Amino acid sequence: MLRLLCFTAHPDDEAGAFGGTLLHYAELGVETHVVCLTAGTAATHRGGAKSDQELATIRRREFAIACRLLKVSQDTVLDYPDARLDRQDFQTVVADLARRIREIRPHVIVTMGPEGAITAHPDHSMVSIFATMACHWAGRSNRFVDQLEHGLTPHVTQKLYFGTALFTMPGRQPISLPPSTAVIEMSQHERETKVAAFKCHESQSPLFPFFEETVAKRGRLELFHLAASSTPRKVETERDLFAGVVE
Ligand SMILES: [Zn+2]
Repeated sequence: MLRLLCFTAHPDDEAGAFGGTLLHYAELGVETHVVCLTAGTAATHRGGAKSDQELATIRRREFAIACRLLKVSQDTVLDYPDARLDRQDFQTVVADLARRIREIRPHVIVTMGPEGAITAHPDHSMVSIFATMACHWAGRSNRFVDQLEHGLTPHVTQKLYFGTALFTMPGRQPISLPPSTAVIEMSQHERETKVAAFKCHESQSPLFPFFEETVAKRGRLELFHLAASSTPRKVETERDLFAGVVE
């Protein structure tokens, strides 16, 4: 069975950035996993929560409901602090993500770009950097050797993609997006389910108009940049993230 692993920073990134693609591959029989690094407690919109802990509970629940709608096989929210991913210990986070890669053993990993995606959020940049190093180092027998003493084996992920776009948002910090090399065209049903999954994040409802605007700009497409491939290859525009992947 083919496996897809998606690393995100905040609950709602899975729907907003990758919703169509996650559903598309789940419906093709791919086992899909989402690992979200924070519970999103630094959010401006608090959904009536009286404490960070309460907001974390709300957002974890919303994430689980959205993932169910997107037919995600396994959804996980980690406990790293929202808005502070750039202050975390690099070795600790990369080791944690590498261990998850060695356990899940994905054929393809998708994450955000180091520019921080269209919102330029520093947490988006950091999940990209952590996931990228975890992807490369999970495959090596000389990295995080302690994990290998406990029964895990190195795992080489065949492809790593960054989500990308062909537009930027006015009024935001400047971003330099990676060029699109892969295009996933969503069906009407996939696009509608992506919007519905984003709207599962009710605590973030003031963001719905912004989301609708970006969905309109993306049209039926979710775009990706091939950032690493276990077999050397030239850039060519792909229509399937699993193209050339060996099961
Ligand atoms: Zn985010």
